[in-house]
Amino acid sequence: MTNELEENIVERDFFARAEEEQRDFLAQTWCNHCMEVDLGMVNPKEFESKDRVWIEGDCVKCGHATVTEIVEEDEE
Ligand SMILES: [Zn+2]
Repeated sequence: MTNELEENIVERDFFARAEEEQRDFLAQTWCNHCMEVDLGMVNPKEFESKDRVWIEGDCVKCGHATVTEIVEEDEE
């Protein structure tokens, strides 16, 4: 089933990433609520759309949602 919104968003499997990558992404966060970097996140979910990839999770400190954008090189 696909939702045809502005962007076609697909959920990916965050846990398919290498353990090191998972650790890094979970540690390297920015929380808009705490206004602090690297507080960490839990409950990560990875999404992708046509132009970008990001991870959504909950801030370890305050529990608010945090989003980390991932910059990936395109494989052509
Ligand atoms: Zn926070």
